[in-house]
Amino acid sequence: MTDLNKLVRENVKALTPYSSARDEFIGKEGVFLDANENPYGKLNRYPDPHQSELKSAVSKLKGIAEENIFIGNGSDEIIDLCYRIFCNPGTDKALIFSPSYGMYEVSAAINDVKTIKVPLNMNFQIDMEALVPLLSDEYLKLIFICTPNNPTGNCINNTDIESVLSHFKGIVILDEAYSDFNDQPSFINIIGSYSNLIVIQTFSKALGLAAARIGMAFANEEIISFLNKIKPPYNVSLLNQRAALKRLTSISETEYQVKRIKKERERLSFDLQQLGIVKKIYPSDANFLLVKVTDATYIYNELVENRLIVRNRTAIVENCLRITVGTRYENSRLVKALKKITI
Ligand code: PMP
Repeated sequence: MTDLNKLVRENVKALTPYSSARDEFIGKEGVFLDANENPYGKLNRYPDPHQSELKSAVSKLKGIAEENIFIGNGSDEIIDLCYRIFCNPGTDKALIFSPSYGMYEVSAAINDVKTIKVPLNMNFQIDMEALVPLLSDEYLKLIFICTPNNPTGNCINNTDIESVLSHFKGIVILDEAYSDFNDQPSFINIIGSYSNLIVIQTFSKALGLAAARIGMAFANEEIISFLNKIKPPYNVSLLNQRAALKRLTSISETEYQVKRIKKERERLSFDLQQLGIVKKIYPSDANFLLVKVTDATYIYNELVENRLIVRNRTAIVENCLRITVGTRYENSRLVKALKKITI
C-alpha cells in the first residue's frame, strides 16, 4: 500500500485551494453578480470548474466513478500537475524510459525535477533487471510508463507494468494516450487494486479532438482530490467541455474511425515494406508507425519538399521516422513520394 501522506509535497498538503465564485454558489438559476463577468454575450460566464457534465459522460463511457476521474487541459497539464503534487523541486526525481514521450522530461525540467532515464531493451520493453535496483531510491517519486509507447508504437508487457506497480512505493503514471488503437484491456479497470496508479488518457488521439485540449486521469479518490486541489480553477474552457461532450454522443463514429485507421495502418505498413529505403517497420499498437530507413534526415527533407510532413526521430532512434497513419489518400500520397526516393 502506497502511503500518499509521505509522497505528497508538504506545501500541497497544507495549502488552501482557491475557491472560485462557482465553487461557492453551485446552482444554475439566478442573477449572477458574483464573478465579475460581463453580463452581456454568449461566452461571458466562467465554465463549470468541475466539468460535471463531461465527467458524468466519461464515467458512463468508461464505467469508472466520477470521483475517480480528473479532467485536464490536455494530458500535458495532468503530467505537469503530477510533478507539482509529488516532486519537491531540486531534490526529488522521476524515472522515465527512453525512448518515450518527450514531455515527461521537459515537464520535469520545468519543475526542476531530476530524471533517471532507463533505456528500453531491444524490443522496446522494460529492462526489469536494470529497473529494480533503482526503485528503492528514496527521492524517486514518479515513474512514467507510456503504453503503447510513443514513438516506438508497442504496448509494454502487462506483467512488467504490474510488477513495477507492486514493487514501487511511489506513483506510477501510465500513459494510455494511444490505447484505443489496440485490444488490450485498459489499466483504468484496476485503479482500485493499486493505490499508486494514475492512468492518463486523452481526447487528442482516437477521439479526434486534439484542438480541444482535453486529458483525463483515472486514479483513487485521494489522488484525484489532490489534482483538483492544485489545478487552475477553470482549467477546461466551456467550448472545449462542449466539444468533448458532443464527441461522446457519437461514440460509434469514433469506433468507425479507429477501425479505418487500424486497417490503414496494416495497408501502409505493407506498402512501406515493399520499398528499398525501408529497413524495418516496428510492430504498432498505436496510430503511427516507427520506420527504420536508410537515411532518415535525407528522406525527411525530401518528403518536406513534397509537402509531406512526418516526424524525424533519428535523434532518439537512429534513422527512424515516425509516421502517423492518415487517410487512405494521404497514405497513398506518402507511399508514392517515397517510391521516388532512392538512397
Ligand atoms: N501522451 C502521449 C504519449 C502523447 O504522445 C501525447 C501527445 N503527442 C500526449 C500525452 C499529450 O496529449 P494531450 O494532447 O492530451 O496533451
